[in-house]
Amino acid sequence: MRDVCVLASDKRARLEIAVAVTTEVCREAQRAHSSGTTSTIGLGRLLTATGLMALTSRRLGTTSVQILSRGRIGQLFADSTESGEVRGYSRRPELMYPIIPKERRLERASIGAMVAPGRVSVVRSNAAGEYGQSAAPMANGEIDRDVEAFIAQSEQIPAVVACETLLEADGTVMVAGGVFVRAMPDSELDALYALRDRVIDGRLAELLVSSEDFPTLLSRIAPDAEIVEEEKRIVWKCRCSLERVLGAIELLGVQDLAEIADKKEPTGVDCDFCRTHYEVTAEQVMAIFESKIQARG
Ligand SMILES: [Zn+2]
Repeated sequence: MRDVCVLASDKRARLEIAVAVTTEVCREAQRAHSSGTTSTIGLGRLLTATGLMALTSRRLGTTSVQILSRGRIGQLFADSTESGEVRGYSRRPELMYPIIPKERRLERASIGAMVAPGRVSVVRSNAAGEYGQSAAPMANGEIDRDVEAFIAQSEQIPAVVACETLLEADGTVMVAGGVFVRAMPDSELDALYALRDRVIDGRLAELLVSSEDFPTLLSRIAPDAEIVEEEKRIVWKCRCSLERVLGAIELLGVQDLAEIADKKEPTGVDCDFCRTHYEVTAEQVMAIFESKIQARG
């Protein structure tokens, strides 16, 4: 199945439903960070959930979701533009627990023991560049359940969030995807709970593995849903650039800038999100230093 994201609606039960395949996104994330099993699964679920939140929020701006874990994984971070361009990182990309037995690799793996306890923190920006932040306690450290608990608490609406990243025997990503359902004030909650039962506890993993194409997957998840918008995609794309790196260096104090320029050698900066390496020359740092001194008069 190719990557795709579809926004659909169950008009009778009044549910908004988004279903995405994000296999390529999770593969790109794994390649960028050379991540082990735990981070590939955790970050994959978070990238999918964050992209689905952003694509369904119907507002301009970015959505950032941070998993602040007191478990061994430390921190997972993902952000998405309103058009579904996602990126993210794990503070402990090398984690390889649980070891997934070959015969169970097509099943949902539990990573909660590496992630919980902790908090979910969400920052949303709007078109005017203003930020709003809110946070909620983690549910069980499985990422999708945690994001669902956050939405239930912060938006006070029932929701379903189920995301999976399944791995091949060699640890690379086989298939990934997610489901995001929002209730409306007059939704039929029985229909929401029935849909939840079709995707939680590893059933989405079974559907991702066994569905031969996307229409089959969608009809198995939400048989009464009608597609309401043209197809979208969640894509892995970082927004870093040398200009942004220089912009970040400009924020340093003159003392720090002087010390860096004084070394007379290039400064290496790696993007946290995509691991792209940037080199800033001593001359570039000196130019920023001088323009700051001049601006002071
Ligand atoms: Zn980057």
